[in-house]
Amino acid sequence: MKVDLIIENGVVLTMDPSRSIIENGVVVIDKGKIIDLGDSAILSKYESTEKINAHEKLVMPGLINTHTHTGNTIYRGIADDLPLKDWLEKFIFPLEAKFCNKELVILSAKLSIIEMIKAGTTTFSDMYYFENEVAQVAKEIGIRAELAETLLDFPSPTVKTSDEGLKYTEDLICNWKNDPLIKIAVAPHAPYTCNASTLKKAKTLADKYNVSFHLHLSETENEFNESLKKNNATPVEYLSRLGVLEGNVFAIHCVHLSENDREILRKNKIGVSYNAQSNMKLASGIAPVADLLRRNILVGIGTDGAASNNTLNLFEEMDMGSKLQKVFTKDSTVLNAKTVVEMATLNGARLLGLENNCGSIEKGKNADIILIDLNLPHLIPIYNFYSHLVFAMNGSEVNTVIVNGKVLMQNRKLKTIDEEAVLREAKVLSLKIKNNF
Ligand SMILES: [Zn+2]
Repeated sequence: MKVDLIIENGVVLTMDPSRSIIENGVVVIDKGKIIDLGDSAILSKYESTEKINAHEKLVMPGLINTHTHTGNTIYRGIADDLPLKDWLEKFIFPLEAKFCNKELVILSAKLSIIEMIKAGTTTFSDMYYFENEVAQVAKEIGIRAELAETLLDFPSPTVKTSDEGLKYTEDLICNWKNDPLIKIAVAPHAPYTCNASTLKKAKTLADKYNVSFHLHLSETENEFNESLKKNNATPVEYLSRLGVLEGNVFAIHCVHLSENDREILRKNKIGVSYNAQSNMKLASGIAPVADLLRRNILVGIGTDGAASNNTLNLFEEMDMGSKLQKVFTKDSTVLNAKTVVEMATLNGARLLGLENNCGSIEKGKNADIILIDLNLPHLIPIYNFYSHLVFAMNGSEVNTVIVNGKVLMQNRKLKTIDEEAVLREAKVLSLKIKNNF
């Protein structure tokens, strides 16, 4: 049988239900999908003009970043060492008011996607402005994405009111329906930037089209305490009372959670995006992720924006996220390496409703696959692949990235976008921002 692409001679870390690892493995890809996998014995059944030799490489599902703001990568490092409130109100919101436009978002999204691909990310969930443009960029480069226009009760760079934001989102949902790579979600920014009416309308919109709904939730102690004062309820209780914490929903951060909050998340099957480094850097606190996992709450990993992280690197996030929980719980057994890799692949896919598309290398799924160089001094010896992925790698080992069967990067060279040109343009734009803010 003739097929589009064959990956051979690699170690295949499948992340399938039995977590099989195939030595000298083969993955067969046709029309964007994984149609077969196994050891070298299956090679005789297929032929292809496109072959990738994965000798001394790990072949695994691409990583899934469950929370980004790709449009703010252009502000990376412009305002560090600040609490969230000052960072947001004195820098990010004013910067966005002054500089954010379609061209900036397009360039920043390109820069972000290049960074993500180079560190093995094949799917990201974005919440920013001009998301129609982000969708076009993602599609052009060929990465998988779940995209949501940030809804706010005050004017955003894209729209003037929350109702206009909802209309913009509805148009996005309709325009990108059935796209093989792009999914649209509904994303109110947070309970403190969207009133009850906006939150409810947003949820109604998400339910109407059966798309994901997500928002920042219980990120800081201040947000938690203000909600108690204003709503006589924690942020989670408040949203639950509004009826928006049901169905296809995930919450980003969840750093400050009462016992009752955790039970609400568990009972309502609300997933959580864990953004350890952003929470550490803004001193927001530590999300009780080990406890959430113990309660069988679905937790994926996100980087948050590069303006608060300051990278979009899931290898760093896996490493930090695991160690932070160990320190927090004083229990070195929590968030073990295998669990963390599951969080960055399978859990991320489930959180975004993409579990039938990606998150593992299995027959019938889309071919979202990365190849990682293993023949490197900091990765030798190899006793346990999960351990290396979380505690030894930094993302620079990612050699090849495939999304939906298409090779986006090979031997660290990007094939669908001119990396040098984007870096050059981003440097020019950053100078303009620096000189005018
Ligand atoms: Zn965020």
